[in-house]
This record gives sequence, C-alpha cells and structure tokens, in this order.
Amino acid sequence: MTRYCPTGDGAFEDWVERCPGCGQALQVEPPVAPSRMTHQPVDEAVVYLATAPNEPVAQLWLQVLEDEGIRAMAKPAGPGYGAWGSVATFEHELFVLRSAHDRASAVIADLREDDGLAGG
Ligand SMILES: [Zn+2]
Repeated sequence: MTRYCPTGDGAFEDWVERCPGCGQALQVEPPVAPSRMTHQPVDEAVVYLATAPNEPVAQLWLQVLEDEGIRAMAKPAGPGYGAWGSVATFEHELFVLRSAHDRASAVIADLREDDGLAGG
C-alpha cells in the first residue's frame, strides 16, 4: 500500500516510514488539505543513495539491491542535460533506509565498476 507525506511531498512505498523530503512520518491517507505541521528533524529515515543516469539503470540497481535484501526506491530527478524524451531518460535518485546505506552504496559501487560508469 502506498503511503503519503502529510505535508504534500508525494507518495512513497509502504516500507518508507518517513518522508525523505521533510522527515515527517508518512500516513496511509493522502493529505486532503495543505497543512502547516511543524517540520521535525529527520531521525532514522530514508536517505539518498545514488543517482542513476536513467530509469532502466535505476530499475536495474533497485533489482540488484533487492537481491541483496536491501529495500530501495527511486524517483525521477527531473530532466537532465537535454530536456527531451520521456521520464525514462531522466536521472533517477535512489533512496534507502539509513541503516542499509553503507551496504547499499557498496553494491552500487560494484555495479558502477561493472558498467564502466565509475569514471576511474
Ligand atoms: Zn514530506
């Protein structure tokens, strides 16, 4: 089941407990009206992991992370260098739970080396 940021940052996978944008605990129901809740500091939360160059790569990374037992999610980062094409050509930012970040970043580093994306 999808969960929602109470302050309107969007919808997230159900295992995400806190909004990566504002740190609010996610809720089952979408926000019905803009609220003025006090933003609180992020505690144990979803953290930024890496940016994939496009959606197919993001999906590949998510699949490999899942195979490693790490739950991750991706969201489009918006148009890249050329704003043409579909969302599949956008860079995608990957997020993981903070506690899984170190392991996940090692997995991604391996993937980048395999793909020659590491740039050295
Ligand atoms: Zn939020």
